[in-house]
Amino acid sequence: MATETTTFEIRKTTQSRIAEVDFSNLVFGRSFSDHMLVAKYENGQWGKTEIVPYGNLSLSPATAALHYGQTIFEGMKAYKNDEGEVLLFRPFDNWKRFNLSAQRMCMPTVPEEIFIGGLQELIRLDSDWVPTGAGQSLYIRPYMFSADEYIGVKPSDSYYLIIFTCPVGNYYSKPVKVRVETEYIRAAEGGVGAAKCGGNYGGSLYPAKLAQQDGYDQLIWTDAKEHKYIEESGTMNIMFVIDGKLVTPAVSSSILDGVTRKSIVAVAEYWNIPVEERRVSVAEIMDAVKAGKLDAAFGAGTAAVVSPFSHISFEGVDYALPELNDASFPVRVKEFLEKLRTGKTEDIFGWTL
Ligand code: PMP
Repeated sequence: MATETTTFEIRKTTQSRIAEVDFSNLVFGRSFSDHMLVAKYENGQWGKTEIVPYGNLSLSPATAALHYGQTIFEGMKAYKNDEGEVLLFRPFDNWKRFNLSAQRMCMPTVPEEIFIGGLQELIRLDSDWVPTGAGQSLYIRPYMFSADEYIGVKPSDSYYLIIFTCPVGNYYSKPVKVRVETEYIRAAEGGVGAAKCGGNYGGSLYPAKLAQQDGYDQLIWTDAKEHKYIEESGTMNIMFVIDGKLVTPAVSSSILDGVTRKSIVAVAEYWNIPVEERRVSVAEIMDAVKAGKLDAAFGAGTAAVVSPFSHISFEGVDYALPELNDASFPVRVKEFLEKLRTGKTEDIFGWTL
């Protein structure tokens, strides 16, 4: 990670909470590092950026974001290499996507000095919180929300940008059972599916809960018009290995342009595996499953990195997928990305900072 000159106001905690955390048993998203970054946008510009002890916010009940959901976020990770240096994985991709989400949601964009520079400063301060066990990392949560004390529906004039971090372990430990969703949708063409805005996640909870009640871990989302085309899985992009090819839905206005997805596509191409980014129909995948040609299917995202499926359920029938072994693409690519992120293999793509 590069060193930068400090331009942030830093107030350090007087009482670190690190000793309270059981690093051998990290639960995703429940432990929070000592500090957070807070910046406020008002009067048409970003004001001072502060790094302060992690703690509660004080907000008006009329805070606009709490009513109309003008709120966006990112999810990214930092790792430590064998020398103990902190490595950020493709942070510029998250920064760019954050600003695309901001534009879609009528919010101000965040300059690089604040998003990347501030993040580096925050992580330098909390570097002891970056865990080094197998599958562990520091999850980073930047988010922005409208802060006006006003309940008319309009873009806010003021915003908070906050970044906090959480030491995390493996997200999913075993292959998951997924169901093709043909009633509810996550996102529609022309909507906000390509933005990482809060409402996309709030709206996905109910269909996901129904699937869980029926014994499934996650959903496969299909297109809003016909439920004929596969879009994503849960809060991950989706990928298939068919006849030795990597097949994945092309990104669109209803699919998030995932950093893990594009990293896996790049690695597959580097390994000379044919990649197809295009519309993928449910019928094609179900035909491949039935013909025994679907070698693997998995979700791809920052939290889980790669989350292989054990079963796909469609129209009330569960279809088992082949068991994976060390030579299977999802296992190999996960291992490769993990080595790359932790500096254990050469960063041939220039992805770590
Ligand atoms: N799709 C959705 C809806 C997501 O929330 C995420 C997680 N950010 C992804 C895909 C995967 O994106 P990434 O690889 O950048 O984490």
